[in-house]
Amino acid sequence: MLTVPRRGLLESAVFTATFGHKELIFPTPAHAETQLEPTIGFYKYKVGSIEVTAVYDGIWRKPHDPTFIKNASVEETKAALAKTGLTTEFVPIPLTVIVLKIGNKHVMVDAGSGVGQWQANATHLPANMKAAGIDANQISTILVSHFHPDHVWGLMEKGTNSAVFPNAELIVNGAEYRWWTEPGRVEKLAEGRRAAGKRIADVFPTWKNWTLVEDNAEVAPGVRLVAAPGHTPGHSAFLVASGKEQLLVSNDTMYLPALLAPHPEWQGAYDQDGPTAVATRRKLVDRVIADNTMICGAHFPFPAAGVFTKDGDAYTFVPVVQS
Ligand SMILES: [Zn+2]
Repeated sequence: MLTVPRRGLLESAVFTATFGHKELIFPTPAHAETQLEPTIGFYKYKVGSIEVTAVYDGIWRKPHDPTFIKNASVEETKAALAKTGLTTEFVPIPLTVIVLKIGNKHVMVDAGSGVGQWQANATHLPANMKAAGIDANQISTILVSHFHPDHVWGLMEKGTNSAVFPNAELIVNGAEYRWWTEPGRVEKLAEGRRAAGKRIADVFPTWKNWTLVEDNAEVAPGVRLVAAPGHTPGHSAFLVASGKEQLLVSNDTMYLPALLAPHPEWQGAYDQDGPTAVATRRKLVDRVIADNTMICGAHFPFPAAGVFTKDGDAYTFVPVVQS
């Protein structure tokens, strides 16, 4: 069982909690996020009988930009990064993909950014997956959280756009699929989004292996889609449950805990509908706290999992560190 630490424990240097059969080591937040890139690019843990493998893709060292957080200055952003021990030279945006082994089935959440298709340093997914003992050909289902490049470019080959996983079932919230592929969408997108939107609209509808689902649908044994709109119209999380244990694969709901745990009200430039994204963030994080649920996120510091605790009107993120 996951033991959520009490506030007092957060102030001790290191403490442990058990989750499933594994003892996790939690550092204090002040020491938690100083290492940007992992030395071992995969990490396995259990949720009941489901094996979770976090696979590291890479990191975007995003230059500071006053438009990145709509309602915070660069100085406020830097102060939040510094508070968790992160560099303030740039905004570190790591990317991790989750693979669930459910019985003999391999279910991946999102497909990563595609080697060399997003950021120069996000190239590690194939090698790390192999190192974790996962054969990409074994992936039978891909749960897609939303259609941003860092989550779906890994579905397409660079240059040709041919399908990387032609035999896997691709499951996505119908709201997300319909929004990006509806006639006239590309022209309505902001200029900076048009090239990505066109790639999606040109390629995805030509594939026959999509399954469109709605909120709360069971998308794999023990896994349900949780609609989490705001970041994109059909952005979704996935709740993994086995036995008495639960993990919320939150994707981009709370993408950078260093910034958004202390400031859940901050609206990122990539949150398409800022106020809805903030409301969804609070709702989901309150839910994982109330239900004693572990959480992982695509841009959390590797291995991209941990727990949240309440801190007044905001939150504290307590990450798992690779042991
Ligand atoms: Zn993302």
